[in-house]
Amino acid sequence: MKIIAIGRNYAEHAKELNNPVPTVPVIFLKPDTALLRENKAFYHPDFSEDIHHEIEVVLKVCKEGKNISEKFAANYYDEIGLGVDFTARDIQSRHKEKGLPWELAKAFDGSAPVSNFIPKSEFTDLYNLDFNLDINGQIRQQGNTKDLLFSFEQIITFVSRYITLKKGDLIFTGTPQGVGKVNIGDHLEAYLEGKRMLDFYVK
Ligand code: MG
Repeated sequence: MKIIAIGRNYAEHAKELNNPVPTVPVIFLKPDTALLRENKAFYHPDFSEDIHHEIEVVLKVCKEGKNISEKFAANYYDEIGLGVDFTARDIQSRHKEKGLPWELAKAFDGSAPVSNFIPKSEFTDLYNLDFNLDINGQIRQQGNTKDLLFSFEQIITFVSRYITLKKGDLIFTGTPQGVGKVNIGDHLEAYLEGKRMLDFYVK
């Protein structure tokens, strides 16, 4: 499986990092070794001084597809969860300055904790989902899918022009504003529509 992630998909987050609001989706990949499941602890890597949390709604792809039209894109994901797109912001900033790829900042081991998934049929409106990330009991990031720049269907259509989607692939759909540093000892909890989906520690 592969993890496809979308950058700058909430305008307020693009602005907080002084990035332009994109006119086409910004995408990058994480390998399967980035996955962290079942609320396992995230071990803070020693190569970064500035690991940021990015809470994101994650789609689970349910069938293979290429060149998927927007009209049929909703048929290609059937479950939704939450994930954290951990980002070594210091490395990413240096790489952005030099126009280098982002993998060292985004694709490292454990950089993609994901929750269990819920069938999308259990939600009444996929474009009005509240989600938030709390650290040590304080709300740090709060988002709603109504603020997405590119819809889930637009993302699937765009990505599948270039990369075949396969059953089991995960799509991180972008983070809202409020990203910031995590520290060893932090307790992260993430909620989707008030339901606790993630609950793990930074070690
Ligand atoms: Mg992200």
